[in-house]
Amino acid sequence: MNIAILRTVADLRTTARGWRAAGETIGVVPTMGALHDGHLSLARRARAECDRVITTIFVNPKQFNNPDDMKKYPRSEETDARLLGSVPVDAIFAPSVEEVYPEGFITTVSLGGVAQPLEGHMRPGHFDGVATVVTKLFGMSLADRGYFGQKDWQQLQVVLRLVRDLNLPVEVVGCETIRDSAGLALSSRNLRLTADGRAKAPVLYAALTAAAADIRAGQSDRMAIREAAETMRAAGFERVEYIELRDAATLMPSDDPARPRRMLAAAWIDGVRLIDNIPV
Ligand code: AMP
Repeated sequence: MNIAILRTVADLRTTARGWRAAGETIGVVPTMGALHDGHLSLARRARAECDRVITTIFVNPKQFNNPDDMKKYPRSEETDARLLGSVPVDAIFAPSVEEVYPEGFITTVSLGGVAQPLEGHMRPGHFDGVATVVTKLFGMSLADRGYFGQKDWQQLQVVLRLVRDLNLPVEVVGCETIRDSAGLALSSRNLRLTADGRAKAPVLYAALTAAAADIRAGQSDRMAIREAAETMRAAGFERVEYIELRDAATLMPSDDPARPRRMLAAAWIDGVRLIDNIPV
């Protein structure tokens, strides 16, 4: 199916207003394109739960703290549109940078707390960029629901927090991480891995899974995490940026097994930065 690609906020608004006037609910799936089955699982969930589904494709300059990373970000709009036709979604919103950030744009949505540690610490400005663009996308699209992947766990918590804090009338839906058969979480960044890096990358998930099992079996958090980092380095990861056990909602350090906790990690293999997380 051929899906309409909307380029302007005005067109998106007109479309969304029409749907709203007809009493239809709108689900929005924000992405940066280079779509894979992880993204499509969000779109399928939205399809099942909403009358209308919009997938946005926008490589948001404000969330890249490294310009080189942004330049290297894969882009494949035609293939993306074809994949979204298989869901199918009702519209694709793929605006230019100037459309989203016209001259004179000066507003930033910035969170403390949950946005500060881990990814917030390693990638200064990243979550301000995410929070700003997500707030804008919700406003532009008149979304009833927004769909986000647990793959980016901290991002999901940031969006949940910001929607509560700003009273945005949007229900945020967190969706399961989709993995390949070896356990590697699907990611547009995986495309950058060499065959060798691709073969080793699943060790990230395997090491986290083993550490979580050890902790549940009574091993100390610190010991289990140290072993996971060693396993990853031995497998060929150049750098383990962090492996942390945190409160699942606030992302603050947590040694209380009675509360939901999440183990989150970022590590480099083959010059590619991978992130993953699992419940503990
Ligand atoms: P991105 O295009 O990387 O900004 O991702 C867009 C959305 O897709 C975010 O909500 C991600 O968390 C989600 N996503 C990315 N990879 C996966 C995956 N493997 N499983 C589930 N959701 C994912």
